[in-house]
Amino acid sequence: MRRPLVAGNWKMHGTRASVAELIKGLRHLALPAGIDVAVFPSCLHIAQVIAGLEGKAMAVGAQNCAVEPMQGALTGEVAPSQLADAGCRMVLVGHSERRQIMGERDEMISRKFAAAQSCGLVPVLCVGETLEQREAGKTIEVVGRQLGTVIEDLGVGAFASAIVAYEPVWAIGTGLTATPEQAQEVHAAIRAQLAAENGEVARKVRILYGGSVKAANAAELFRMPDIDGGLIGGASLNADEFGAICRAAGS
Ligand code: PEP
Repeated sequence: MRRPLVAGNWKMHGTRASVAELIKGLRHLALPAGIDVAVFPSCLHIAQVIAGLEGKAMAVGAQNCAVEPMQGALTGEVAPSQLADAGCRMVLVGHSERRQIMGERDEMISRKFAAAQSCGLVPVLCVGETLEQREAGKTIEVVGRQLGTVIEDLGVGAFASAIVAYEPVWAIGTGLTATPEQAQEVHAAIRAQLAAENGEVARKVRILYGGSVKAANAAELFRMPDIDGGLIGGASLNADEFGAICRAAGS
């Protein structure tokens, strides 16, 4: 049985004051037993969030990392080793906003994935198709290529300590959500692709769904057999809403 994970991606949101408010709200949440919870603040607020959530069972992660594991001459980037030193446990790699706006390619994402793991961080590999790709019937091909690059570069064993997040680009921040059946179809395909290489890794890996998840639709998504929790953007900025999503994962 896979333990559900609810992860909040705060994106480029927050000031010290608003982050302090959010921490206060999160500290008050009664979280269900049997699930994992993580939040991914902006890099600037990681130390504040780690200190603020001390003693609360919530992991903190980063939204991105450098391709090189160790600190060095790479202006503007943050090394996975620095994130680990700061107390991060996880890092998002390949979020669609970084693929689309920052031009990150599969090869670069593989390098970030490897760099993160070499520093003891758990990478959360984000994959997903655009609306155009879905309408062209290419969803499984696109997601398969994004996942396949990491499998080819690092071997399927890399997924023994990693998480996958399926996030259809057309559902991120748009209010449109994949139906539970649409999401399940892709999650099952991701697991099958991993199973073709290693059944045990595929059985154990957690695959999160992301894309306009909120309290009102979380339970029906989390009920699907291959959906092991959610990567939550906008709704994770409201502690009560995030708490309700966590409860849906725990029920
Ligand atoms: C995300 O950014 O990973 C995300 C899923 O955003 P939202 O929940 O706002 O669609």
